[in-house]
Amino acid sequence: MNLLIQDAGRYYREQFGEPDLIIRSPGRINLLGEHTDYNAGYVLPAAIDNAVYVSIGKRKDAKIALYSVDYQEHFEIEQSNLQKTQVHWANYVLSIVVTLQKAGYFFDGFNAVVRGDIPIGAGLSSSAAVECAVIFALNELFALGLDKMQMVQLAQQAENEFIGVKCGIMDQFASMFGKQDQVIQLDCRSLKHTYFKFQPEDHQLLLLNTQVKHSLADSEYNLRRLDCEAGVAHLSRIFPEIDHLRDATEEMIESELKGLSNDVYNHCLYAVQEIKRVKEACTDLMSENYIAFGKKMFETHKGLSEMYQVSCPELDFLVAFAAKHKDVLGARMMGGGFGGCTINLIRKDGISDFIDRASEAYLETFGILPGAYPVTISEGTSLVQAQF
Ligand code: ADP
Ligand code: MG
Repeated sequence: MNLLIQDAGRYYREQFGEPDLIIRSPGRINLLGEHTDYNAGYVLPAAIDNAVYVSIGKRKDAKIALYSVDYQEHFEIEQSNLQKTQVHWANYVLSIVVTLQKAGYFFDGFNAVVRGDIPIGAGLSSSAAVECAVIFALNELFALGLDKMQMVQLAQQAENEFIGVKCGIMDQFASMFGKQDQVIQLDCRSLKHTYFKFQPEDHQLLLLNTQVKHSLADSEYNLRRLDCEAGVAHLSRIFPEIDHLRDATEEMIESELKGLSNDVYNHCLYAVQEIKRVKEACTDLMSENYIAFGKKMFETHKGLSEMYQVSCPELDFLVAFAAKHKDVLGARMMGGGFGGCTINLIRKDGISDFIDRASEAYLETFGILPGAYPVTISEGTSLVQAQF
C-alpha cells in the first residue's frame, strides 16, 4: 500500500486513535493554456500522482487538533474566532473551516493529520491539494451535502480570501475533478469541462524544476492582465460583442491592435493564439496524435517567451535543451512564468538519459541542479478505499 496513506493512518492512530476516513487530493499540471484563464479561455490541466493525504476524525469538543507529518508539527485551536496563525501550513486547513463557516456550514471539532509528497512552491499547487483534501474530508465527515463544484469554489475562495492568493479556479478544479489518464479541457468562462484521454503508450510527462522564482513574477503578471484588458477595451469599441480576448480572433488583433503599443499587440495576439491552440490540441488528442500535441507545447513556449514575455533564461534553456533531445516530443514552461517548472513529453526509454544530460548542462550554466519529477495522470480528490 502507498506509504503516504500508511503514514497518514499511523500518525493519526498514534495521537488521536482510529481515523474515521482518509482523503487523497492530488497536485496538478497544466499541459497547455497558459495565461488564458483571465482571458475567459481554455486551460488543459490534469491531476498527478503526487498528492496530499488527510486522515480525519471527529472530536467530542469544538477544538481543531492538527499534525503535519512533513513539518513534524502539532497545532491546536478553538473553533470560535478562527484567525490566521503563525503556523503556515495550518492556515490552509483553517482557511477551509473559516470559508465553510462564512457559507453557513458549522460542525463540531475534529482531528486531522496531513501528509503529502507534492513539491512545494514548484507550480504543482500543493496548496490547492491541501484545501481540496480538507474540504472533501469535512464534507464527508460531517455530511455537509456539498457537491464537487461547490467544494472547488469554496476552496478557491479560501485561498483568495483567507490565504490572500488571487489564484483562478483551475488549481482546485483540477485537483478535485482529475481523472486517471485524462486531461480536463476547462472553459474558464462557463466552467464547462470535457475530458480527453491522454495515454501515450511509449511516452511520459516529466517536470524539470528550474529551482528559481524571479521576483518579477507578480508585477509582470499584473501588467499582462492590464495589457489584455487594454486590448479588449480597444477591440470592444469596434466589436461590441467582445468581452474578453476569448471572443476575439487573430484577424481582429491584426487589423485593430497593430498600430497600438507593441506590447498590447503581442500580448493579445499570444492569448488569442493560445486559446485556439488548446482547442486544436484536443483534436490531436482525439486522434492520439502526440507528435502534433508535442509540437504545440513548443509553440506555446515560443509564444510565452517571445510574445508574452514571461519566460526567463533558465526556462528557455531547459526547453531549448529538450528541443534538441531526440526523445522529447514537446516541452514548455508551465505556470505564470519567471521560474518554476518546464513540462516535457518524452519517450519513456529516454527519460534517464535526458534527466542526466539536462541536469549536467543546467548545473554548468546556472550553478544549480534542476529537480526532475516524472508524473503520471491520476484521479482527483477521493476517499481512500484501502484498509488503513
Ligand atoms: P504551491 O505552488 O505548491 O501551491 P504555495 O506556496 O501556494 O505553493 O503553497 C504551499 C504551502 O501549502 C506550503 O507552504 C504549506 O503551507 C502547504 N502545504 C503543501 N503541502 C503540504 C503538506 N504536505 N503538508 C502540510 N502543508 C502543506
Ligand atoms: Mg499554491
